[in-house]
Amino acid sequence: MIAGFDLGDGKYEQLRKLSDIGRAFTYTTSIDEAARLTATQGAELLGATRTVVMLHDGDRELQVRASHGIDDERVARFRAPLTDEVIGRLQGLLDVSGDCFLAVPLVVGGSVTGLLAAALARDCSEFDEWLLSALADQAALALENARVSEEVRPALESRLRASEGATNAKDRALATLAHDIRSPLGSIDGFCAILQDGLLGPVNDKQRSALAMMRMSGQHLLSLLDNVMDMARLSAGVMGVRDDAVELREVARQAVDMLIPAAYAKQQTLGLADGPPVAARGDMARIRQVLVNLIGNAVKFTPVDGAVTVMVATGGAWGEIRVTDTGPGIAEAERDAIFQPYYRSEGTATLPGIGLGLAISHSLVDQMGGTLGVESEPGAGSSFTIRLRIDDERPTG
Ligand code: ADP
Repeated sequence: MIAGFDLGDGKYEQLRKLSDIGRAFTYTTSIDEAARLTATQGAELLGATRTVVMLHDGDRELQVRASHGIDDERVARFRAPLTDEVIGRLQGLLDVSGDCFLAVPLVVGGSVTGLLAAALARDCSEFDEWLLSALADQAALALENARVSEEVRPALESRLRASEGATNAKDRALATLAHDIRSPLGSIDGFCAILQDGLLGPVNDKQRSALAMMRMSGQHLLSLLDNVMDMARLSAGVMGVRDDAVELREVARQAVDMLIPAAYAKQQTLGLADGPPVAARGDMARIRQVLVNLIGNAVKFTPVDGAVTVMVATGGAWGEIRVTDTGPGIAEAERDAIFQPYYRSEGTATLPGIGLGLAISHSLVDQMGGTLGVESEPGAGSSFTIRLRIDDERPTG
């Protein structure tokens, strides 16, 4: 966190400009438009001579999607792998020395989706770096929204034309709503961060903690919207999953680490049981998403002082991850229904949630060629198991 910049020297104007760009992002509907806006407005924001927006092409390579001040022909030829080497090559493309060069990653949900780089005609300051990062945060969200929108809208619209009726209309309305709420929400979060960082004047401890709570609520709302958008993409059949070798213990460790604070707040024990590594086939980010949902549910529905255990094992041709809790359990009559979209059992309806997590998780695991199932003893706890095909290429220990 960069705190306490002096707001003289036109910095306040730059913050206003950043807010205008944030507003403009809410009106972009395509990736090209959002990338172009980032490059041109980014140049204006920093007074940069050249800027470039590079996006991941899904194949571990970065490709220029928009630029400002660089010859089109050079841009068209430029591709770079997503490694440290990209920074050196970008400096070459922007024709600039280290002191006048800034590059920041575009990050969505913990994954790098691209890069934003700028060349200045002067040495870069810490504030320039902060500004470019703040712009990158807004741009990453806008680009992701545009990507989802480009993927989902046509598919939903054509299914709607094929007239399957009310469910699709509901999905489309929800996805549109999710998209249109997400952008301004990103901008609210950005401005809370500006206040928190003391950029608009000194902030006392009480104000800082109120801002932290506002950001937490905003992020919760963002994750609900992500679920609505994921469900719409899954029901439109446009959610792709990767088929990579994934080390299940590693991904389980990451998911457990993400939920330790939530378990700690409820004085629960949450841990990953010892065991050998297991390599399976699937999409690492999506497996982590499913696990975060399963462990998050286990923590949410299990009372204070309970225990949640994650185990990784092999069973025949399958790699397994099992999430077991000591919560209320699930009645037999409900064990199929909980995987249906928007289903929430009566006993747990007072807790936060919209009933999409398990439907999304089931569908994602299914797309990876695996299964997601539940065993439970009402009153004693539940155990959710993800099964994924073993990776034949890599022997497991
Ligand atoms: P949400 O968590 O938003 O309610 P989910 O789709 O993740 O949605 O879960 C659907 C329902 O399944 C929950 O509302 C709850 O009734 C039940 N459920 C899921 N996980 C558990 C669990 N670990 N223990 C008890 N009930 C659970």
